[in-house]
Amino acid sequence: MLSCPVCRGPLVLQGRTFRCASGHAFDRAREGYVDLLPVGHGRSGIRGDTAAMSRARRRFLGRGHYDPLVRRIAARVREHVDRAAQPRPPAVAEAGCGVGHYIGALANTLPDDAALFGFDVSRDALRLAARLHPRVTFAVNDLKHRLCLTDASLDALLDVFAPRNAAEFRRVLRPDGLLLVVIPGERHMAELRDRLPLLGIEPDKRERTLEQLAPAFEAAWEETPEWEAELAGEDVADLVGMTPSAHHLPGGDLASGDPARVTLSFRLIGFAAAPPLSD
Ligand SMILES: [Zn+2]
Repeated sequence: MLSCPVCRGPLVLQGRTFRCASGHAFDRAREGYVDLLPVGHGRSGIRGDTAAMSRARRRFLGRGHYDPLVRRIAARVREHVDRAAQPRPPAVAEAGCGVGHYIGALANTLPDDAALFGFDVSRDALRLAARLHPRVTFAVNDLKHRLCLTDASLDALLDVFAPRNAAEFRRVLRPDGLLLVVIPGERHMAELRDRLPLLGIEPDKRERTLEQLAPAFEAAWEETPEWEAELAGEDVADLVGMTPSAHHLPGGDLASGDPARVTLSFRLIGFAAAPPLSD
């Protein structure tokens, strides 16, 4: 289901190399991911997570603080796949997957023959992801430009705190496919925002997300899991360190993380492909 970033033809894995019919070839890195950003193809300017952000993310998520969110995502995807009841194995991808925590968790929820893909622009993140989640195929890909998947190949696509590309998301999903978007809830990390100069959450984030995905998609359902977590000092430092706010804080603020009770708040939005506009 992976497609060639040069000619868009399907890629086939031969040994350690993905090849298309036109002879373009992409080797798997030693760590197991494949780089589908060919030389000469500029990035759109998305920087992706740095190595330090990816390590903070892996530590924080690895301690289970987002598990209630992971369970809701897995339940929604499983429900969708079960309802579709296709005769072929399900295929699910995550756009902007970072260290692969959410798509990796689906390996435990979906049937063993499910095809799982994770895309991110950050090689540092995918190095970690590929080691942690061997069942998932990870590819370096600039999703603002193009998703390296063939047309209508996916049953479900996850986008968790990641950039979005409505046209590409629509192209790679099957007509009855699920697009599951997760954005921060309004009270996410509120206690830390009071204390540290973190980037704010845009109050109209939900509306902007709906606008961004229209007219290709329309929201089918929403849920807003929220809970309070007792975080140790190292958790607070990692939670802040894995966000884009880490770029804006002097190093000292991260090192001096104090224990805190912190609200973790999310909005899951399930999108279905909107019917084509008739004339
Ligand atoms: Zn090609």
